[in-house]
Amino acid sequence: MTDSEILMDKTNDLKPKSMKYPVYQPSLTGNEKKYVNECLDSTWISSKGKFLGEFEDKFAKFIGVDYATSVCNGTVAVHLALLALGIGEGDEVIVPTFTYIASANPVLVVNAKPVFVDSLEDTWQMDPRDIEAKITDKTKAIVVVHLYGHPCDMDEIMKIAKKHDLYVIEDCAEAIGTKYKNQTVGSFGDIGCFSFFGNKTMTCGEGGMVVTNDATLADRLRRYKNQGNAKYREYWNDILGFNYRMTNIQAAIGLAQLEQVETFISKKRQIAQWYMEELKDLPLEFNREGKDMFHTYWMVSCLVKKATLRDELREYLKINGIETRPTFYPIHTMPVYVHEFSKHKVAENIALRGMNLPSYPALEYKDVVEICSVIRKFFEEK
Ligand SMILES: *Cc1c(COP(=O)(O)O)cnc(C)c1O
Repeated sequence: MTDSEILMDKTNDLKPKSMKYPVYQPSLTGNEKKYVNECLDSTWISSKGKFLGEFEDKFAKFIGVDYATSVCNGTVAVHLALLALGIGEGDEVIVPTFTYIASANPVLVVNAKPVFVDSLEDTWQMDPRDIEAKITDKTKAIVVVHLYGHPCDMDEIMKIAKKHDLYVIEDCAEAIGTKYKNQTVGSFGDIGCFSFFGNKTMTCGEGGMVVTNDATLADRLRRYKNQGNAKYREYWNDILGFNYRMTNIQAAIGLAQLEQVETFISKKRQIAQWYMEELKDLPLEFNREGKDMFHTYWMVSCLVKKATLRDELREYLKINGIETRPTFYPIHTMPVYVHEFSKHKVAENIALRGMNLPSYPALEYKDVVEICSVIRKFFEEK
């Protein structure tokens, strides 16, 4: 092959393939257009405007907390949470290894040390016993991630946090509306973080929210996201802050999405039930809802018996126009973190065998049946 042929080949590879069933597509059929047009017509398109306050207030109510402040994405939400709690150099923060990279990176950004813990085999969530085993006199906080829409074991985790006097930051990016014993996640810890990226349960395009019941923390979060502006003097910046603000346009979309979030969640739960029912006799293991839990199935996730088989199945589905995602690689195996050698057997096992199936509000029963028939054919041909 000549260089240009190789280049062509690569370019083709980068082209988005036309998939009949993408793994996700947002639903924007509510008041999104109307509210965005109000922003445009009124010229309030930047980070001031009526939709911001309304979205924050209604989101706080939905989660069941006193304060919510909007930010430009979920990653900076976690960064702000760490800043507001004063976590920095010399501190250790416990993080699950089986999660999206944005749960861990902000810990490094504030110069603290992430200490990884393994997952539970049944729920895939962080293992409370491993949390307790990893606590040292430098541990300051636990980043609790409710992965793929399933809640963590909050009774156990809050008990450990209390016993060792640790802060709890909940990363609820994948768990909007998820409940543990009838309490909505994001309201258990000191601070809860949310993401409204395009594939999350509700979206602003890009966006995030930080929630808390503590007035002092709420105040700090607002100041850090707004250049460290002092309250007592205009344009006076007395702490090192950032511009992490959300725009009124994002909030307009967010508010319209929030109006529909209960519908999105029940549809996702319905889709998960359809998959589990259609595929129940196949060698697939689903991330099911545990007792006293309300799983919002951000993704419908399942395990295949072997990692090689998972990759073959994903390829087979792709050829048939069905997009899937592999489960996250354990963070402790990634280049930025790999220098600290550790083993996390359960997470390593799940991560390489897991995949996420298409799940979005517009997906209908007949679509799920069609996707499942392709999965069945794959196993029949094996
Ligand atoms: C999506 C996600 C984030 C980050 O959110 P962005 O809005 O993409 O920055 C953080 N943590 C988890 C677990 C996520 O899934």
